[in-house]
Amino acid sequence: MPPRHDLKPSSAATLSAGAGPAPADLLARLRARGDADPVTHVERVPARPGTPAPWPDWAPAGLRAAFARRGVVAPWRHQAEAADLAYAGTHVVVATGTASGKSLAYQLPALATLLADPRATVLYLAPTKALAADQVRAVADLELEGVRPACYDGDTPRAEREWIRRHSRFVLTNPDMLHHGILPGHAQWSGFLRRLAYVVVDECHTYRGVFGSHVAHVLRRLRRQCARYGRTPVFVLASATSGDPAAAAGRLTGLPVTAVTEDTSPRGGVTFALWEPPLLPVSAASPDDVDLAPVRRSALRETADLLADTVASGVRTLAFVRSRRGAEVVAANARRALDEAVPGLGDRVAAYRAGYLREERRELERALLHGDLLGLASTNALELGVDLVGLDAVLICGYPGTRASLWQQAGRAGRSGQEALAVLVARDDPLDTYLVHHPEAVFGAPVEATVLDPANPYVLGPQLACAAAEAPLTPADLELFGDGAKEAVDALVEAGALRQRPTGWYWRHRERPEVDLRGEDGAPVCVVEAATGRLLGTVDGGSSHFLLHAGAVYLHQGVSYVVDTLDLADGCALVHPEEPDWSTHARDVTSLSVVSVRSYVDAGPVGLFLGEVDVTSQVVSYQRRRIATGEVIDTRPLDLPARELRTVAVWFTLSPESLAAAGVDPADVPGALHAAEHAAIGLLPLMATCDRWDIGGLSTAVHPDTEAPTVFVYDGHPGGAGFAERAYGTASAWLRATRDAIAECACESGCPSCVQSPKCGNGNNPLSKADAVRVLDVVLANLPS
Ligand SMILES: [Zn+2]
Ligand SMILES: [Zn+2]
Repeated sequence: MPPRHDLKPSSAATLSAGAGPAPADLLARLRARGDADPVTHVERVPARPGTPAPWPDWAPAGLRAAFARRGVVAPWRHQAEAADLAYAGTHVVVATGTASGKSLAYQLPALATLLADPRATVLYLAPTKALAADQVRAVADLELEGVRPACYDGDTPRAEREWIRRHSRFVLTNPDMLHHGILPGHAQWSGFLRRLAYVVVDECHTYRGVFGSHVAHVLRRLRRQCARYGRTPVFVLASATSGDPAAAAGRLTGLPVTAVTEDTSPRGGVTFALWEPPLLPVSAASPDDVDLAPVRRSALRETADLLADTVASGVRTLAFVRSRRGAEVVAANARRALDEAVPGLGDRVAAYRAGYLREERRELERALLHGDLLGLASTNALELGVDLVGLDAVLICGYPGTRASLWQQAGRAGRSGQEALAVLVARDDPLDTYLVHHPEAVFGAPVEATVLDPANPYVLGPQLACAAAEAPLTPADLELFGDGAKEAVDALVEAGALRQRPTGWYWRHRERPEVDLRGEDGAPVCVVEAATGRLLGTVDGGSSHFLLHAGAVYLHQGVSYVVDTLDLADGCALVHPEEPDWSTHARDVTSLSVVSVRSYVDAGPVGLFLGEVDVTSQVVSYQRRRIATGEVIDTRPLDLPARELRTVAVWFTLSPESLAAAGVDPADVPGALHAAEHAAIGLLPLMATCDRWDIGGLSTAVHPDTEAPTVFVYDGHPGGAGFAERAYGTASAWLRATRDAIAECACESGCPSCVQSPKCGNGNNPLSKADAVRVLDVVLANLPS
C-alpha cells in the first residue's frame, strides 16, 4: 500500500474540540490528495427549523404541564397530526427520521386516554428490552397519577408479574413475551385486554422477513383475543423512514393504516459526501488471486486515513465500521498515521469495543464529547449512548444495509446551529457502488420497503396452531389470518394437530405448540466454548452450515471465536476464543427446480416469473480473507450434507435469439447471466430490507424447467419471506439499478464492487461484466416499467 498523505503538524497545533474547520473546508482538505477525486457527490442537507403545532384540544392540561416539565413546550406538527389521528381512532404509522420525536406521537394520545378514562390500558411493544426500558423511564418521568408504567419481559421477577397484570395501565413488552407469555396466558390478562385502548408498535420496520411474518400473526392473535374480550384497540406504529410505510404497517397489523411521513422536527445542517475509494494500479493487486482480487483501495484503509485527517484538523469524529475487528483496524491505522506526524497524537483515537463494560463505554463517549478524544471507531450506532450526538464529523465505512441505519449513524453529527460533515465510504460491493453513483437513492424519496409475508405457510401453520391453543379457531378467524389460512388449518387437521368440531377447530394436545418467532429453518445449533462448556448462543439450522463450519470465524457480542468442530447430529458447534486477522466466507453449490408459477409477465423475448421452487444447496468450501485488505489467503474444502429448501423465487428468462441480437456470444451467455445474477442479488436490498443471508441465486444458459437462459433469485427461508415477491413487483426499477451499478463501475472486467460475489459457489467463474449489461438491457427494453 503506497503512503498516501502527509499530516500537517501545523494543523495539529490548533487542536481543541470544536475549533475545527467548516465542513466544506474540511471536505476540500480531505479530497485534495491522490490523482482521482474520490468524491462522487456532495449533498448539502440544510438545517431545518422545527414547525411546532398547538397542543390538541383534547390533551389535558396536566399532561401538557408534565411534558413542559420535561422541556416539551409544544409538539411538532407531525407529532400532533399523528396523535390527532390516533385519538380519533385511526390506526396510524409515524415514519419520520431518527430523533424526530416519534414517542410523543404515541405517548400523547395514549396518556391522554389513560388520564381521561381511569380504567383504560395501553400495551407497548419494542423489538429490544433496552428500548422498552428507555420508554418506561420516559413515561415514569412524567409522574402521571395512576398510570403505573411497567416493563413485562423475561427479566421481570415472578413476584412482580401479578402486580403488573393487575395494576399497571401502561405495559411495555416485546413480541416474544406477547407470543410466549401474554397471549397463551390471556385469561390472566383478561382484565387488561378488556380495557385495552392502544397498542403501540415501536421501531416496526425491524419486523421484516420471516420474523416480521411471525410478528404479523402474533398481532393478529392479539387482535383476536381483544375482540373476544370486546375490545378493538387502536394501533399506533413508529417506523424509520421507508418506502410506503402505510402498506408495510398494514401488512404487519392486518389493518388499514394511515401514514404520517413529513418530519417537522428541527435538525442541524450536514454536508454529506459520497466517497468511492480509488482503483489500485493493476500491479498492486495480487496477480495470483484473480478470484476476488482487491482492485479497489479498501474502505477500511480509506476510512482510517480520513479519520487521521479529521483528527489532525482538530475535528471530533466518529467512524462507523461494520465489524469489531474492522473498527480496530481503522483505529490502529489512524493512530499510527497520527503518531508518525506528531508523536503522541495517536492517543487521541480509540476503538469502541462492544466487549467493554457499560461504564468504560460511557467514559469513552464522555472523552469524545469533551474533546479529550478526537476520534472513535465504533461498530454500531445502537450500542452508543444516546447522549453522544453533536459531533463535528461522522465517517461511515460501508453502507450499513438500510437507509434507516445510515441516517441513524449520520444523525450523530451536527450540533444545533453548526454544520457537520458526514462521509459514506463505499465498500467493494455492488450496492455501495450504486449508491455513491446515485445520490437520489440516498437523499431522495426512499424506495426501500420493509417486507414480510404473512401468507408463508411455514409461518401461518404454526401461528394458527398457537392461536387454536389459545382459543378454538372459528371460520371468522380465518379471515383475520388472511390468505392461505383455510389451507393451513386443513393441513393441521390432516396432521392431527387440530380437531374440527361444529363450533370450530380445537388444539388436540396438552402442551402448547412450540413456535420460534425467528423461524423454523431446521433445529438451532448451539455454539459452545469448548474449554469452559459455556453456551455462547444459537444459530438457526439454515445458517449454521455457512457460519459454524469447522474453521469459521464466529463473532459473538464483538468477541471473535474460531469453530473447532460442527456436530450436526448433536446440533452443537465447539469454538475457542481467537482473533485471527482473516475472516471466513463459506461457498455453496446449488440446484433448483420450479414447483409452480404464481404470476408472470410475458414480455416477448423476455419472461418474468414469481413462483415456488425447490432449492438444494450444499456448502462445499470456505475462503479465508485478510480483514484489512480483503486479499484471499486460501480456499479450504468442507464436507457438509446438502440441504433442501422449498421457497419463493423471482426469475427472468431471455430467448437465445434476443441475446445473440444484443451481441452476446453464445459462449459468453453463462458468464453474462452469472454476473447479472450476482449484481441483482447485491442490489435487492435497495428495494427491500434484507441482507445476503436472506437471498440466494442461480443462473444457467439453459434451465430444464424454463428451457431458456434464466436467472433465479430466491428467498433463503422456507416458504419465502417476501423478498422475491418485492423483487418481482419492482422488477424494472430493481434491474435498472442492477444494470447501472455494473455499467458505472470503473473496473475493466468485473470486481467485487460490481459483479463478483464473496458468496459465490463457483469461485466467481465464469463472469462477463460487459455482457451482463447487454443481458439487462434486453430485459429492460422488453419489460413494461
Ligand atoms: Zn467493477
Ligand atoms: Zn456465483
